[in-house]
Amino acid sequence: MSGTPDADGILRIADRCTGCGACISACPVRALTLASTGPGGSGRKLAAVDRRRCTLCGACLPACPHQALAIVPR
Ligand code: SF4
Ligand code: SF4
Repeated sequence: MSGTPDADGILRIADRCTGCGACISACPVRALTLASTGPGGSGRKLAAVDRRRCTLCGACLPACPHQALAIVPR
């Protein structure tokens, strides 16, 4: 059993994400996407992480100009 990559941590995307997309290409395993969020399907797109893919490598953290990404304890 290899366990899930987020067993002891998780990539958190803060509310200040603007959906700029700068982090998307920084992820080596393509775990980040821009996805529609918000109540009522406003159509606004913000960063979203596929936690099954994310290895918590941290490569995306410095790519965000708004410091919206952080790895935190689960
Ligand atoms: S921590 Fe690494 S694997 Fe996870 S979303 Fe960021 S760049 Fe991708
Ligand atoms: S780089 Fe930061 S602000 Fe831009 S989409 Fe990614 S998490 Fe959001």
